[in-house]
Amino acid sequence: MVDEAYRVVVGLEVHVELKTRTKLFCRCVNAFGSAPNTQTCPVCLGLPGVLPVLNRNAVYLAVKAGMALHCTIRSVSKFDRKQYFYPDLPKAYQISQYDLPFAEWGFVPIADGAEVKRIRIRRVHMEEDAGKLNHIGQNLKEAEGSLVDLNRAGVPLIEIVSEPDMGSAEEARRYLTELRTILSYLDVSDLRMEEGSMRCDANVSLKPRGYQGSLEDLPRVEVKNVNSIRNVGRAIEYEIERQAARLSQGERIIKETRGFDDGRGRTYSQRSKEEANDYRYFPEPDLPPLVLDESWLTEVQASLPLLPEAWRERLRDLGLASQDVEVLVQDRVQVAFLSETLSFTDDVRAVSSWMLSDMLRLLNERGLGFDQSPVSPKDLVDLLGFIADGKISGRMAKEVLDKMFESGESAAVWVKRLGMAQITDDSLLRGQVAEVLAEHGKVVADYRAGKERAFGFLVGQMMKRTQGQASPEVVNRLLKEALEFDAQ
Ligand code: ADP
Ligand code: MG
Ligand code: ZN
Repeated sequence: MVDEAYRVVVGLEVHVELKTRTKLFCRCVNAFGSAPNTQTCPVCLGLPGVLPVLNRNAVYLAVKAGMALHCTIRSVSKFDRKQYFYPDLPKAYQISQYDLPFAEWGFVPIADGAEVKRIRIRRVHMEEDAGKLNHIGQNLKEAEGSLVDLNRAGVPLIEIVSEPDMGSAEEARRYLTELRTILSYLDVSDLRMEEGSMRCDANVSLKPRGYQGSLEDLPRVEVKNVNSIRNVGRAIEYEIERQAARLSQGERIIKETRGFDDGRGRTYSQRSKEEANDYRYFPEPDLPPLVLDESWLTEVQASLPLLPEAWRERLRDLGLASQDVEVLVQDRVQVAFLSETLSFTDDVRAVSSWMLSDMLRLLNERGLGFDQSPVSPKDLVDLLGFIADGKISGRMAKEVLDKMFESGESAAVWVKRLGMAQITDDSLLRGQVAEVLAEHGKVVADYRAGKERAFGFLVGQMMKRTQGQASPEVVNRLLKEALEFDAQ
């Protein structure tokens, strides 16, 4: 546990690969999982004499992301070379943006109890990805050798740098979850942390009580490339404990880069930050400044979809419970499905409750998302219409939905085929009510003596006689009427 003597300070750097057809500065295909080095050309291999040409669509996706994170977009930004040596970087520099990133000063809203806390975004910049080393063996140290795959070299990335505004592992998890949800609504990336299309470095420090200096000056640890949101949380929790233990023993925190060992749940030292880290950035001479014109920016802004935060508000206003809202908003295809039903019905509560129970179960059984559902939004609304009109019961509707999923046919077809029309006609049920009361004189007497449970038994008898087809509401009403009438 952390002592009250410190406050936890966390800032995250998140890399997101953009879902473009081709790479950032060449026309090689941007796709994951191909045979090594099959998606390369002289540009991304860094051969001499080639020139980079900026991918327009990458700029579009990056700007969309910057806007959705509420950033200010610079109308003129530029590219720089970040120089370092590593075998996965054939040019020995990475084209990135240094002092003039395309986006700055945004925020991601996260839940903080009933309030919303804004985690500030310091900057978002564009850069190209490096290649990938495949170690022959468990890890770099024990490897017999390493193979270089340059398919990823030159893939467009955005790096989203937060301010150190998170105060716990839980807040970091919330921030990442919300960031991923926002980006998923924009459809700018695959966002697969296990495949590396979203990667996170976590900066962690402990601020002593009464510390007056700048947060930037606190010795912090940067945990590199953690591969899931859950593990980012674990890595931060581990760091908090480790640093608190050191401080309580009067030791200093060393500014360093650490890795996270998933199996052991521990971070380990990779390199001390005191060494080098001087990238000698300088302006990329082969690319002109990136100029974004006003009218284009206005167009992109106008094309942004409704974001999770706005959807939360809209769904709450429509009367949905917060837990349901949260589950729905997590997944953009769920929201899109729900959104489409709203053009056919006002009963958003019924829709969401069927979506989150039976629809979700049936989709999960088949490994499908809401965007692949054999039952369309309109089909679901039609089914709910049969319940609302009293034609079928909720129980019958479940059976119909199963059939609709299997066959892709409409609710109307199955209600008819299963002979399900519910009996709602008073005159058809009155005679049977009289018979049930006559057959069960003792139960009727019990009911009149105040045994409420006897009523349920009588309802059950009616359902049995009608093979479940009587409308439970009509049966309830007719039984009550008959019991009261006879009592007089
Ligand atoms: P570097 O080049 O060292 O990675 P960056 O400027 O790219 O530096 O990123 C700095 C990151 O560290 C930001 O996400 C910022 O929020 C975070 N950070 C700054 N000060 C602290 C601190 N005291 N504790 C934790 N994180 C911090
Ligand atoms: Mg950094
Ligand atoms: Zn290429």
